[in-house]
Amino acid sequence: MEYTTGESVWEQRIAALERRITYLERIVKVSQILNSMLSLEPLLSIIIQAATQLAGTESCSIMLLDKKTGELRFEAATGLNKDELRKLSVPLDSSIAGWIFRKKKALLIRDVRGDERWNRHVDERIDFETRSILGVPLTVKNEVIGVMELINKQDEDEFSQDDIQIATHLASQAAIAIENARLVEKLQGAYDELSELDSLKSNFVAIASHELRTPLSIILGYATFLRDDAESETASEQIEIVLQSAMRLRGIIDDMVNLRHVETGEVQLEREVFSMRELIEEVVEEFGGVAKAKRQLLKASFKTDEPLSIDADRQKIYMVIANLVSNAIKFTPKEGRILINAYLKGDEIWVNVIDTGLGIPKRDWERIFVRFYQVEPSLTRRYEGMGLGLSIAKEMVELHGGRIWVESVEEKGSRFTVVLPVSPFR
Ligand code: ADP
Repeated sequence: MEYTTGESVWEQRIAALERRITYLERIVKVSQILNSMLSLEPLLSIIIQAATQLAGTESCSIMLLDKKTGELRFEAATGLNKDELRKLSVPLDSSIAGWIFRKKKALLIRDVRGDERWNRHVDERIDFETRSILGVPLTVKNEVIGVMELINKQDEDEFSQDDIQIATHLASQAAIAIENARLVEKLQGAYDELSELDSLKSNFVAIASHELRTPLSIILGYATFLRDDAESETASEQIEIVLQSAMRLRGIIDDMVNLRHVETGEVQLEREVFSMRELIEEVVEEFGGVAKAKRQLLKASFKTDEPLSIDADRQKIYMVIANLVSNAIKFTPKEGRILINAYLKGDEIWVNVIDTGLGIPKRDWERIFVRFYQVEPSLTRRYEGMGLGLSIAKEMVELHGGRIWVESVEEKGSRFTVVLPVSPFR
């Protein structure tokens, strides 16, 4: 007889342990799901479903603090008139949820009808009868963000110690997951706002640069015409200054347009077969005046008479070489030298732009190709520019399947090298 009693005690214990293991397994599963969810609404829905099932209740609801009104607002609930409930909130004073929120404590009320904190208003609105409530605070880093309430055990059962544990466990997991989801939503909101601002900026740049280009072309056209016809050397020098400033402005506008194209991935290469030699000669011609004004020697040299034919986007390659030459002139003192070499090496064309200028410290050899990077900090800078030219040049060269880099000795000079495949598209 004693033996049988002992066995049944053991059986009971084993059954209790088995229940506990099953419950722990489910809690672990739910935690895993909660940790992997980043959107608030589905997350809340999983939490209340899990709580309802694990504790075997008729309903579960989650209220979060609405910072604007200072009230607890229903965000999710199972088994109740959800649409009606979501319009409701309860005050922190004179409500069970408010008490839990303020005291940061779990609360079990076996019969709400005798409890003065109970707010029958909600039941009336959603046509529900609350008998018992087990409520727990949702706490993140010691700050309460809301309350989870389990309502009415199924089959007229009473809430047990196990239920309190389930609710407390779930609440601690849920609070962190809710806070994470809210942060992600905030981040997404900020990101969307940023994207909108970014597209406004891009549109502005597109329109402004388009509008600036036309009058600038007219200035450049007339200034060239006036320089060629200048009657005195002084007049010609003055017009040269106008021309140089207008050209600099055009360079800046081109950088803005190209940056936008690169950013929006709108760059399209328009291929044609052209002579790299002629292109370089044109660049030398264009910048001749600027170099002369600094009494610099600007020269192109070619090993052979070859035209150095290449199948590429001429306008973009022109921009790359013009950018390197313009930088070389800018960062080389008066009376310095700038030399452009170009030659064929296998099926690649190599172009060097060499100057006797300031040079670039080795730590900056890669960084100068990054957008907005300039060796001299912008506030103390002695040279104009936006730090965009080389980053765009790099993008353009790479779009052609080529490479660009710099080698330099400080105070002595720099050598930029551009290597382009003769037929990048074949
Ligand atoms: P920007 O010339 O408008 O500043 P770039 O992207 O063309 O922008 O160049 C980035 C930086 O690289 C320059 O600010 C300068 O510090 C450095 N740099 C570029 N070319 C030379 C050069 N030939 N000699 C010395 N420094 C240079």
